[in-house]
Amino acid sequence: MLNLAVAKIKNYPGTKIDVEIIGVADPAAHEYSDFALAGDVTFRGTAANEGGRIMVEGVLNGVYALNCSRCGKALTEEFETEFFAQYALQAQPDEDGEADILEFCGDNIDLEPQFLQTIFLELPMKPLCSDDCKGLCPFCGKNLNKGTCNCEAPIDPRLAKLKDYVFKDDKKGDN
Ligand SMILES: [Zn+2]
Ligand SMILES: [Zn+2]
Repeated sequence: MLNLAVAKIKNYPGTKIDVEIIGVADPAAHEYSDFALAGDVTFRGTAANEGGRIMVEGVLNGVYALNCSRCGKALTEEFETEFFAQYALQAQPDEDGEADILEFCGDNIDLEPQFLQTIFLELPMKPLCSDDCKGLCPFCGKNLNKGTCNCEAPIDPRLAKLKDYVFKDDKKGDN
């Protein structure tokens, strides 16, 4: 739960508060199996009552816990992304076009699900431990950043024929 206390503004259109929320957002608890965060997320922004709706706007910071897409090494990467969400006390069934309005009740809005959704959309697709990561050998699985292996590189079939030819030619020379 990353709660935004809205008691001060929820009944007063035109009011606005500064918001700072720092805490743990847990992807696994929200059915994201494919990403993880290292440490707290930080949100700084505002919450405003605009015509009875609570508009939450600001910037989210945190650190992704990732694995290199080539060699699998664990790595972290900071992120900073804009956040926006709007909430209303009751769902408004007559406003079908505005499906992005989320419902809340009481004096708190749990921002964690929306934070996670926003952070998830910014997830790097192919994280790399370094730009020149050599990855793993496709044959033996050795991490090629830590040294070479003895696997044969796949030979281009055209070059293979050439190799054969050179070999035969050498033999002829011996005769
Ligand atoms: Zn790597
Ligand atoms: Zn190998």
